[in-house]
Amino acid sequence: MSKKKILLVEDEPSIIDTVSYALSTEGFEPLICRTAQEAVAALRTETPALGILDVGLPDMSGFDLCRLIRQTSALPILFLTARSEEVDRVVGLEIGADDYMVKPFSPRELVARVRAILRRTPAPTEHSKQPAASNSSFEIDDQRVQIFFKGSPIELSRLEYKLLSVLIRNPGRVYSRDELMDRAWEEPDMSLARTVDTHIKTIRGKLRAIDPSADPIVTHRGFGYSLKTSA
Ligand code: CA
Repeated sequence: MSKKKILLVEDEPSIIDTVSYALSTEGFEPLICRTAQEAVAALRTETPALGILDVGLPDMSGFDLCRLIRQTSALPILFLTARSEEVDRVVGLEIGADDYMVKPFSPRELVARVRAILRRTPAPTEHSKQPAASNSSFEIDDQRVQIFFKGSPIELSRLEYKLLSVLIRNPGRVYSRDELMDRAWEEPDMSLARTVDTHIKTIRGKLRAIDPSADPIVTHRGFGYSLKTSA
C-alpha cells in the first residue's frame, strides 16, 4: 500500500521540520508547501488525503486558502492557529474545517488527530462513477451529472444534484446549512438557509418515490444535514 500524502502548508521552518518528521515516522508522506500559492499549484497534480493549513500564511490567510480548496475538493482540513482568538472561527466550522490545533502543539497529538480525521473520512475520490464510500445505496456519475439510488437514476435539479453529492461524498459527516450552501451553490449569498431545507425536502420525496421506506438523510435540528453511514 502506498503512503498517504499529507499536505502541510506552513511557513515556519521549525514547525515544518517537527511536523514532517512526526508524519514520516508515522508512515505518512508529507507534502510541504510554504505559501498558499504553492499549495494551490501542488493540488493540481497531487491528491493528498488531508491538508494541514497554517492560518497565518505569507500570501493569504489559511481560511481563504481553505475556501479556495473547498471550491473544488472536499479535502479534510486541519488548521494550525497561532492565536486562540482564531479558534472561534475554526470551531464555528464556517469554513468547513475538520479540526484545529493551537500552537505550540505536540506533533504526536497532531498526528493522532490526523489519523482520527482520516478514519472518519473516505479516501479522496477521483471524479468517476463509483459507489459512495459507506453508503452503498448511492452512486454518483459525475460525467453524466446523475445520481443513482438503489440502482435507479434520480431526477434532480442541478442544485439538488450538488447538494446530495456533498452529503454522499462524506456519509456521516454533519453539514451546517451554511456549509451546504457554500459547497453546493456558486453564489451562496444569493440563497437563504431555508432554500437548503426546501431542496432537501424535494430530494427526500424523490428518494421515497424509489423506495418508500428509505430515509437516508438525517436532519440535525437547528444545524443541518448528514447522510446515514449505512443504508
Ligand atoms: Ca505562519
